Amino acid sequence: MMQHGMFAAPGAAGVTCPWCKHHWPAGMVAVECGNCGGALPAPPGPTRAAAPPPGPRRLPERYTRELLFSKNVGAIVGTIFASLGAVFAAIGLGLCFVLLPLGLSFFAFGALFGSIGWGLRSGSRKSALRQIDALTRGLVAEGQLVGVRQDHSEIINGRSPYRIEYVFYVNGQALGGSTKGWDIVNALRQPGEPLWVVFLPEDPGVSSIWPPIA
Ligand SMILES: [Zn+2]
Repeated sequence: MMQHGMFAAPGAAGVTCPWCKHHWPAGMVAVECGNCGGALPAPPGPTRAAAPPPGPRRLPERYTRELLFSKNVGAIVGTIFASLGAVFAAIGLGLCFVLLPLGLSFFAFGALFGSIGWGLRSGSRKSALRQIDALTRGLVAEGQLVGVRQDHSEIINGRSPYRIEYVFYVNGQALGGSTKGWDIVNALRQPGEPLWVVFLPEDPGVSSIWPPIA
């Protein structure tokens, strides 16, 4: 579950800016990032970060681009599958003039592969867009961290992200959400830590912590 021994003490941990990825060492963690001006997550501990400003909140373009594409594994894999599918389908069409059964098989395979890829791409982009929507105009609720674990189902460059589960209350009803971050400092976060949550009023199941974690 948790990893210990990476830092001398939680108080000695800095945080990484979720927006521009600048790392702020312990003692230099402010409310806002001195590099990009974005809201910084609180270091691990009982302190809540600054409350989210009222919506609409402006998100750095670099951050939304990452959510939508450059760090969206589903969108990347889906785009590759869709492109390969299109190539196979095109080869299949060409082959139809030479050997019809083979051409049709290639075309069918390409079309199937391509549509699976396209579906994955659209689905992943759609959930990223809902996330951006919640961050931009979501209503604010007080939340609490429920648990932290390393998510070994995702490995990039030999590292796995930390998945943070949280709970928040809307009209007395408890709702849950989860988010992930790569910053090693997240390993030091403890259940019960206070945090801010923003959620879509028409669909509170779509939520994000504010500010997000890097
Ligand atoms: Zn920053």
